[in-house]
Amino acid sequence: MRRGLYIGRFQPYHLGHHTVIRQISADVDELIIAIGSAQRSHEPDNPFTAGERVLMVTRALSELCVKHYAIPVEDIQRNVLWASHVISMVPPFDVVYSNNPLVTRLFREAVVPVEHSPLFKRKEYSGTEIRRRMLSGEEWEHLVPGSVAAIINEVGGVERLRAVAAQDK
Ligand code: NAD
Repeated sequence: MRRGLYIGRFQPYHLGHHTVIRQISADVDELIIAIGSAQRSHEPDNPFTAGERVLMVTRALSELCVKHYAIPVEDIQRNVLWASHVISMVPPFDVVYSNNPLVTRLFREAVVPVEHSPLFKRKEYSGTEIRRRMLSGEEWEHLVPGSVAAIINEVGGVERLRAVAAQDK
């Protein structure tokens, strides 16, 4: 039994994440998706709640044939303790998949193996770019799985992002 951990903020879950997870699925029996910064929502860089992100990941991964668990994990103030914090919140795992340099460093210091995953169309498949498009009224739906676009529309995600990014000047 090989269980992998993939951690991200998923603001929102997009086709870059989805393509990586499709590939990782071939290497593991089970996959844990940790929804990072779970306490954050209703912010320009973090518009979606942990529950909405659980829904995005769960619906999108139902297309793939991998047993998975989507688990929200809040941030903590001390980076040095963060890998232990994540380990305490999720099922046991054998390997972490990440390209985030801080995530990689913190897990390696905790003696947990980390594998890098390939990047796909990083400029377009990017939470920052998708949120920018939502704010400017450009097309964004083609950059996320169809099920995720439906959830964002269902919760009024674009309207919320515009509201929380607005200024009272
Ligand atoms: P993210 O959603 O930006 O990315 C998740 C993963 O997907 C990363 O490995 C990233 O490289 C990859 N990715 C992004 N675009 C891709 C593309 N186009 N193709 C392929 N892969 C792509 O999330 P993140 O910022 O990496 O999430 C890390 C989480 O860990 C955050 O929530 C952060 O707050 C948390 N964290 C917390 C602490 C703490 O609390 N002290 C410390 C470290 C990290």
